[in-house]
Amino acid sequence: MIPAAPLPLQPAPAPAPAHDPAAATPRWQRLWREGVRDPRELLRLLGLDEAAAGISDAAAAQFPLRVPRGFIARMRPGDLHDPLLRQVLPVPDEARIVPGFSLDAVGDAAAKKADGVIQKYRGRALLVATGSCAINCRYCFRRHFPYADETAARDGWAGAVAAIAADTGIDEVILSGGDPLSLATPKLAELTARLAAIPHIRRLRIHSRLPVVLPERVDDAFVEWLSALPWPVAFVIHANHAKEFDASVDASVGRLRRAGAQLLNQAVLLRGVNDSVEALADLCERGYAAGVMPYYLHQLDRVQGVAHFEVEDERARELHRQLAGRLSGYLVPKLVREVAGDPGKRPL
Ligand SMILES: *Cc1c(COP(=O)(O)O)cnc(C)c1O
Ligand code: SF4
Repeated sequence: MIPAAPLPLQPAPAPAPAHDPAAATPRWQRLWREGVRDPRELLRLLGLDEAAAGISDAAAAQFPLRVPRGFIARMRPGDLHDPLLRQVLPVPDEARIVPGFSLDAVGDAAAKKADGVIQKYRGRALLVATGSCAINCRYCFRRHFPYADETAARDGWAGAVAAIAADTGIDEVILSGGDPLSLATPKLAELTARLAAIPHIRRLRIHSRLPVVLPERVDDAFVEWLSALPWPVAFVIHANHAKEFDASVDASVGRLRRAGAQLLNQAVLLRGVNDSVEALADLCERGYAAGVMPYYLHQLDRVQGVAHFEVEDERARELHRQLAGRLSGYLVPKLVREVAGDPGKRPL
């Protein structure tokens, strides 16, 4: 999600506690666990030849493959260049050492307010709710870990909530990670119940890729939780390509909208995935058709192993100019990069 501080990889969310017979394991947690972890199985499912695909076991060992089956179903069988496949397939290019691409993410220790709470920008505090994700995106800063090995959930949210309560300058809390929706709904409810006691919080923001990669996550219990929140909610989904949307995503996003959330999309500009004006325009239009407003188009964070995804700044600007010449103004996302020490995302 928001590259604030890398976290160690964590296992799938724990099933509902055994001592509570009423709490059956939600379906989305089962689907999460059934996600594909073996690159060869992924290739088999897509009818792709292993030798031609050029997967890297070393890359998969460094940052495991993980992808929900519903997301695989949106990939085109037999197409090695499928833009969804490129986002998850471990490849030899990841071993290239390229100057300027470091092990450090953009997060800096100075921005840490408490375990799992990071503040870089005025007014908004980012809460690292969990380190887990349902999908492992190859371009993500999260492939390198750890130095923040504690999330805000660890002590039942006490430290994180106290740090936010103590700073009246914070009026927006951002749930991030990892993916905050990898937490079970009762755990999220526990957190927001605590935050609700802080009078200076005016807005809640959620950054999650789950409505797109595991739309089943937006189930009845989740919608009930979301609808009952005491603040206006901005919900930032992370879709990089129009093909990530299908009827199941339209449904999950529609439920979020009906629960009262303001929906925004943040994408990363990725070579071989969405680096054409057609792909970007399709993404913005497809998202809007589902009820999602374009927000940011990010230049990727320069962490080791992702250089093959990078689009040069000049080309990024040109793509953005062409996009603006083609779409309604409100469909054009802001092209930005995160620069350590800046007071906000830096426009390119
Ligand atoms: C990106 C980011 C935000 C959110 O920035 P916006 O421009 O408001 O979307 C907040 N906190 C941190 C630490 C971030 O990295
Ligand atoms: S969903 Fe993908 S991009 Fe977002 S934090 Fe997880 S691995 Fe990174």
